[in-house]
Order: sequence, then C-alpha cells, then structure tokens
Amino acid sequence: MSGVLIVGGGHGGVDVAFALRERGYSGPVTVLDKSGFVPYERPPMSKSWINGAGGPTELALRGHDAFVDANIELMLGCEVSGIDRDRKVVETSNGSLEYSALVLALGSSPRKLQLSGASLGGMHHLHTLEQASALRDDLASATSVGIIGAGFIGLEIASSVAKRGIPVTVVETAGRPMPRTASEFTSAYMRARHEDAGTEFRFNASVQEIVGQSGRVSRVNLSDGAYVDADLVVMGIGAVANGGWVRDFGLDFDNGIVVDSTLRTKDPDIFAIGDCARFMDDEGGATRLESIGNAADHARRVAATIAGTTVPLPDVPWFWTLQAGVRLQMAGRVDRVEEWLPTGSVESNSFSVLGWRSGKLVYGESINSPSDHVAIKKLLAENAAPTLAVLRPIAEMGLKAAIKSLA
Ligand SMILES: Cc1cc2nc3c(=O)[nH]c(=O)nc-3n(C[C@H](O)[C@H](O)[C@H](O)COP(=O)(O)OP(=O)(O)OC[C@H]3O[C@@H](n4cnc5c(N)ncnc54)[C@H](O)[C@@H]3O)c2cc1C
Repeated sequence: MSGVLIVGGGHGGVDVAFALRERGYSGPVTVLDKSGFVPYERPPMSKSWINGAGGPTELALRGHDAFVDANIELMLGCEVSGIDRDRKVVETSNGSLEYSALVLALGSSPRKLQLSGASLGGMHHLHTLEQASALRDDLASATSVGIIGAGFIGLEIASSVAKRGIPVTVVETAGRPMPRTASEFTSAYMRARHEDAGTEFRFNASVQEIVGQSGRVSRVNLSDGAYVDADLVVMGIGAVANGGWVRDFGLDFDNGIVVDSTLRTKDPDIFAIGDCARFMDDEGGATRLESIGNAADHARRVAATIAGTTVPLPDVPWFWTLQAGVRLQMAGRVDRVEEWLPTGSVESNSFSVLGWRSGKLVYGESINSPSDHVAIKKLLAENAAPTLAVLRPIAEMGLKAAIKSLA
C-alpha cells in the first residue's frame, strides 16, 4: 500500500503526518521510528525532566489515540536501512514498504568524543529517551559532575544539576558559553547567572583524557595540566546529521541530506526535513539547523507540497533555551551578524540584544522577554525593522518602547 512514508517519528516527522491530515490529504500516512517509544519531545529532557520522576508518557508529542484518530499508522521499533528508488520501496527491519512520497526526518546524533576513557561508566550523552533515563538514574548517586561543552544542551544540563545541589563544572574550549550561538553580551550575562546558581566554568580548556577508577569515570584531565573531579560526565559537544547511508542509494549527503529550497532531494519524490536536512536558505546558502522551530517549519511546508495546497513561506528561524532560571529566545540568523546592539537594561533582567548586517536587522536574542522575541520575529518576517543608525540612539529605552517612539 503506497502513500506518504515518513521515516523518523520525532518532532519533524510527527508534524508532517498531522499537517498532511490538516491539509486534507486522505491517502495512507505511515510514520516509522527505530525507537520503541511513542514519539516524544526532546527539549524537556535536558531541562525539568531529568530532575523529575515522570515517565516516557510525560514526554509524548501526541498520545497513541491521536495517531489512531487521524488514521496515521505508527510503526515503532522499525529501522529503515535502504531505499529502492526505482521501485519506490524502503527496506526496513520489518520488511519492505512502498511509498509514493518519502519524507526523511532522521534527526541528528551527538558528536562523539574520540578520547581515551570516553566509554567508561558514568560517561553520558543526551539525545534519546533511553539516554535521558540513564542520565537521570545515574545522577541520583553522583557526587560531582563534569560537562564537556558549553552549548545549549551542556548548559541546560549544568543548570539542572546545579539545582539539585550537586557540584558541576563546565569545560569549554572557547572563552565563553554559547560561543557560536549567542552574542558576547548575552554570554557574559548567562555566565554570571550560571555562576550565581553554583556552576563553575573552565574556559579555553580542552579535554585531554578521561580518567577512571574501577571502570567508572573519576576525573577529566585538561590539556593545560589542570583537572576536574567528576564521577559523572556529560558530553555536549554538538550533533551530526543522521542519514549518511542515503549516499548508498544515490542521494547526496554533505553535512546533512542535501535538499533544495523546497526540501526536495534530487529525487522529486523524496524529501528531507529537520535536523538531518541540509537545505538552501533564503540567500541560497547551504544551511542545516537543529531546532524545533526549523523542524516544524520544514514539516508544514513539505506537508503542503505533498497535499497540493499553498506552500507557506519559510518561517523566521527561532530557538529557545531555559538555563539558570533564564528564558533565552532567539530569532533570525546569528551567523549573519556583523554588529551587536543591546537594547533595554541588564539590571532589569529582561532585555534584548539585536544583531545587524550592513545596518539591517538579521537576528535578535531576548532574555526573559517573550514579547520582545515576538516583536523581533515580526520585524524580521516583515522586513520592517528600523535601521541600526535609527535605533542606536534610543536603544536604551528598550526594544518595544523604541519601536513605539518611532511609530
Ligand atoms: C536534550 C535536547 C534538548 C533540546 N532542547 C531544545 C530546545 O530547547 N529548543 C529547540 O528549539 N530545540 C531543542 N532541541 C533540538 C530539537 O529537539 C531538534 O532540533 C528536533 O527534535 C529535530 O526534529 P527532527 O524531527 O529533525 O529530529 P528528531 O526529533 O531527533 O527525530 C528523529 C527521529 O528519527 C528516528 N530515526 C533516525 N534514523 C532512523 C532510521 N534509519 N529508521 C527509523 N527511524 C530513524 C530517530 O529514532 C528519531 O526519533 C533539543 C534536543 C535535545 C536532544
């Protein structure tokens, strides 16, 4: 029975399935996932979930009944390993399945640390529910925790660990937290919040080896001779796109499954979305993003294409993270920023930092200010922001007040 086959029942895959039904697609829709769990949310796993007592159902993206009600077939514990593009069939651990349109929503996997000691007991990654459960169980008896990498996931975990009162140290090769994904201004603010909450940092430090005792990690040795005592270590050094195997079936893979601006691979019946997709952005640049916003945006556009309804314009990229009691929200493209402008006051603990290229707004990050975040997304979507030269002299009054004063 052909129809739409979606490989990967994560955020993007599940969104495509339901968006197809919302757009009136009435053919068969099947979601396959190698995981045995009903599709679940990942963001809470590094935030409240690892400190709580909730089970997998607490993380479910949609209950089992929602799939039944929408006539979406869910095949769990089913791994896809090949595609016969001529016959339009995928090979899975449960046998062959036909498709008329195939959506690859394979997600990403944590980057692995190639160091001696990396596979000792007490060493963790956090990407799947199994890994989150293992980390939560192990944290119950941890006495000191090391986190490798001061990116979003590392910092969220550090924040959760500090909340439990367990000593935690974050080791980062760069000189500040979130070095590639936040302004220096915001990094400095967040660093202070984490330190207030009890987290220690070792910046400009690289890990040389992981030392163990009786098969379990006991220490992280740094290349400058210093070390961090830790009987539990989480590696948060980024992620790589899944799906390199598609090369064997004639599709292109280069830091992600290569798709065009409509998220199609070079095979017109095969799409790739979310973390695993390397797509052409609005400026024709090859891009890969890892965020819920990106997966949701890709999903609704591909669903509209397959259902034959009007395809919405790409959404402004957005992201959020919760760390050390701070809600940090981002919109736009941080990699395009040439110049920064803080707006509002740090003392209020609610402000935004705007990123500009050639005097034009391209990005903004909001600290404890969801309404600023909404305003930034709107300014970017409508290309309606004042120029940097106009906003700079009045930035101190805060973003919304400044925009209002210009109206
Ligand atoms: C701990 C954590 C916290 C996060 N926090 C945030 C946050 O605060 N904000 C935010 O915007 N983003 C956050 N993210 C990122 C966000 O979760 C991802 O960007 C999003 O899940 C991507 O959706 P996706 O559908 O592309 O992939 P995923 O949701 O990862 O789903 C991919 C699915 O594909 C399945 N799969 C892979 N290969 C195969 C195969 N061969 N056969 C069958 N199934 C397969 C996998 O089992 C998986 O279920 C977080 C991620 C993690 C891990």
